Amino acid sequence: MRYDLLIRGGTVVDPSQGLHDVRDVGLSGGKVTALEDAIPADSAKEVLDADGLIVTPGLIDLHVHAYWGVSTYGIDPDVSNLSKGVTTALDAGSAGALTFGGFRRHTLERARTRLFALLNISAMGIVSSEIGELEDSRWADVGLAVEAGAANRRYVKGIKARLGRHILGESSDIEMLKRAVGAAEGFGGFVMIHVGNSPSPLPKLMSMLRPGDVVTHSFHGFGDGVLEDSGAVVEGMKEAQGRGVVIDLGHGGGGFSFRSAEKALANGVLPDTISTDIHNVSIEGPVYDFASTLTKLMHLGMTLDEVVRRSTEIPARVLGLEGALGTLRVGAEGDVTVMREEEGRFGLVDRLSTATMMGSMAWEPGVWVEASRRLVHVHTVKGGAVYRPWL
Ligand SMILES: [Zn+2]
Repeated sequence: MRYDLLIRGGTVVDPSQGLHDVRDVGLSGGKVTALEDAIPADSAKEVLDADGLIVTPGLIDLHVHAYWGVSTYGIDPDVSNLSKGVTTALDAGSAGALTFGGFRRHTLERARTRLFALLNISAMGIVSSEIGELEDSRWADVGLAVEAGAANRRYVKGIKARLGRHILGESSDIEMLKRAVGAAEGFGGFVMIHVGNSPSPLPKLMSMLRPGDVVTHSFHGFGDGVLEDSGAVVEGMKEAQGRGVVIDLGHGGGGFSFRSAEKALANGVLPDTISTDIHNVSIEGPVYDFASTLTKLMHLGMTLDEVVRRSTEIPARVLGLEGALGTLRVGAEGDVTVMREEEGRFGLVDRLSTATMMGSMAWEPGVWVEASRRLVHVHTVKGGAVYRPWL
């Protein structure tokens, strides 16, 4: 047989090739080996019928929490990612230098999801939701982070710094960010900052980032975000984005607001990458899964091609894996996501509504909207094979 797997008759949406048309995808040896108008069904060991469905490169989620059992937000990555159509995911700082060994052995090396990680600048990582990992700044040890990052370079793509008051306590966000950038430079990675409830203004924090560094929770709904009246945040985002800083969505339980995102989009700031921040508090809503997150951006006016590009081609580039991931070009890894676009009436919510306070910070309730179409995950293909954990 010429192919191990043939995905037939679907509408292939692959922005890396400017493609949005019906195509057949042939996979063998774990790679994409054909992308053609029509491939005979008898040339493959297995045929997946994608008639009426959308076929995209395997989705890439740049913000997940995957250290089950140790980090307070952790979920088994195959449950929250691969089962939901996400073939590649980046854990956003669950482990730090002193907890990374266990994360590597028990999670990164075992996951069937193609899993990478950002090392938390705090050597303990995200252990507790109540005690911030940077409240004692001694945990932010640059030397330890550089050593752990370099020793685990196969998995570690950079450094995560969570710069909210509830994580920092009395520590300075500017100082913590300086250490994060220093550590990332020490082993050649990028920095991702969590913003929202940060002591310093967002434009100030963004000005410290380098091209390729990432801001997550960019459209959060706290008072210090893009809703600020002065417009300074939107201008700061435009300036940062213009010089190559990545504006990431990072939905999470409270990292996304319809009103903020609407305002940003109306002012010409689109997220460069769409990520879920899926964790054990957000997975039962408001996030649910990656397809629901894409649906929200489409509800705000982005096209299917625009959201797919920001969840395939661009995150692959952020990870330094363009060409191998985020594309269905012949020769790329055989990662494919199959979704269905449905029409109807669908309720979507942007934030957790149950939480009322987070530390000293008031939490605004979630906003519900009604969408007329949605994306639903149907199949995940990873490394050339259909993911069927039940077999
Ligand atoms: Zn997160």
